[in-house]
Amino acid sequence: MRSAILCKAYDLLLDELGPQYWWPADTAFEVVIGALLTQQTKWTNVEKAINGLKEHGLLEVQDLADADIELLEELVRCCGFYRQKASRLKGIASFFVVQGMENVFSMPVEELRKTMLSLKGVGNETADSIVLYAANKPKFVIDAYTTRIMKCIGIEGNYMQLQQIFEKDLPTDIDIYKEYHALIVEYSKAYCGRNRCDECILKELNENGC
Ligand code: SF4
Repeated sequence: MRSAILCKAYDLLLDELGPQYWWPADTAFEVVIGALLTQQTKWTNVEKAINGLKEHGLLEVQDLADADIELLEELVRCCGFYRQKASRLKGIASFFVVQGMENVFSMPVEELRKTMLSLKGVGNETADSIVLYAANKPKFVIDAYTTRIMKCIGIEGNYMQLQQIFEKDLPTDIDIYKEYHALIVEYSKAYCGRNRCDECILKELNENGC
């Protein structure tokens, strides 16, 4: 039943919005950078920061690890918490320099998740975004948008509970995980965030109403 609801929601979102092909990045390391920068800010700010990093040749692991911290702070200022974010970017880049990104990304999924969570500034959502979109491994990403939409269709829980629900009730398919999270985010921005509940295509899935 719950599995059918999750699959139906996916189909409805896909029909409504079409495929999103996330994550918008040229390389796995750019995904990592974006996942850290997007915390508590809009994606447009992240794009601006990434363009600045690109212009300064700082999208490679070693270059970012060696980058001047003041320049880095300036480039990520538009994302807020710029000192913290600049320092965390350098930290994660240094980690990948020492460990080797290929070695890290070839870890089994749970070990990789745990490793990401051990890094400064990396919480559940950031870790799972890196595991799914950078390392290309099956880990469902939960965020505030997901929690809200799930509640509207009658499925509630904390981060880990919701993640377990998605991973148990959906086929273990990396492309579906990627697409589903992207669809939730885009739908939330277009509907939930604009109070377009009257037009909501998902409400029919909750017999008790939203
Ligand atoms: S549009 Fe409104 S009813 Fe629909 S999922 Fe978003 S918050 Fe819930």
